[in-house]
Amino acid sequence: MFHYQIPRRKTRQIRVGNVLIGGDAPISVQTMTNTETCDVEATLAQIQRAAKAGVDIVRVSVPSLEAAEAFGLIKKQSPVPLVTDIHFDYKIALRVAELGADCLRINPGNIGREERVRAVVQSAKDHGIPIRIGVNAGSLEKDLQKKYGEPTPEALVESALRHIEILYRLDFHDFKVSLKASEVFTTVEAYKLLSTQIEQPLHLGITEAGGLRSGSVKSAVGLGLILAQGIGDTIRVSLAADPLEEVKVGFDILKSLHLRNKGVNIIACPTCSRQEFDVIKTVNALEERLEDVMEHLDVAIIGCVVNGPGEAREAHIGIAGGSPNLLLYEDGKPSDKVKEEDVVDVLERQIRAKVAALKESPGQKRTIPIKAVG
Ligand code: SF4
Repeated sequence: MFHYQIPRRKTRQIRVGNVLIGGDAPISVQTMTNTETCDVEATLAQIQRAAKAGVDIVRVSVPSLEAAEAFGLIKKQSPVPLVTDIHFDYKIALRVAELGADCLRINPGNIGREERVRAVVQSAKDHGIPIRIGVNAGSLEKDLQKKYGEPTPEALVESALRHIEILYRLDFHDFKVSLKASEVFTTVEAYKLLSTQIEQPLHLGITEAGGLRSGSVKSAVGLGLILAQGIGDTIRVSLAADPLEEVKVGFDILKSLHLRNKGVNIIACPTCSRQEFDVIKTVNALEERLEDVMEHLDVAIIGCVVNGPGEAREAHIGIAGGSPNLLLYEDGKPSDKVKEEDVVDVLERQIRAKVAALKESPGQKRTIPIKAVG
């Protein structure tokens, strides 16, 4: 299967816990908890679910010193690195750094007095953690709103450069930057503009993108336009939905662009009256059953013999509609006949066996999408 590789912009590499961002590191996928941070149990449960879905980094909002103490307890048990989201209060930043935060999301220009900014930056240096500058169109400085009239790409970049200059002045270079707007073209242009001006990694996102369906589409279009230009080192899909969905959509976007091959890639036909088995039901059932599979595998699920054999031959595992039985393919070759009622169980079994075999002999790895074709 032909896989175009997007040439990526080379950025300075930073480290968030055990996850590298920038340089030649894979583009990481992030989400953010939406629980009360003081509810340690609920927040931790959400982080663990996201980790199971493969998330690389989770951001936790820390709005108070009480939440900072809760963060300390969460951090002790978190399976993935945690970024703390802090607005204004430098004391919270200092405390979460002590408690093991893997990155501080705080805008230096919003901290206030110089000695406070210095204290936060010194703390990040002492603990060896990076800072994320996050510029958001919704909270652009008043003077920039006045100067530009609206949150234009140039306004977002000027805002980011103000924060960046503070860090440079304090000789701090391990940071990443996000420039988020809910309008796709504003966001795309802002990232393009900033990418020519700094060497630090960029954290991509379309902010307040919307609900599960519309937000996923908007994020895929927006992030796709940026990523296709080789820009972006880590992403977060912002959805008014379960954070788990943000993780799944994030990986799907990267998979679509061949930037990250994580999990089963299902290739499925849209179905029509020619289908010999229920393709949609099969795809939905498999996606649910295979959520825990992190290895890359192409699986084709095709309704009939029009496109079935051709697509199935290109995948690691394939199933093509046929009568009276469906045809199973493995590594491009027909391997068995399957009854419709057994198709989900058989595919799951074959996929898991293939994943186990690939784990044992990683050298044999090839691209496998789960396909439904039409
Ligand atoms: Fe219909 Fe195409 Fe799917 Fe065959 S492969 S069932 S023709 S949509």
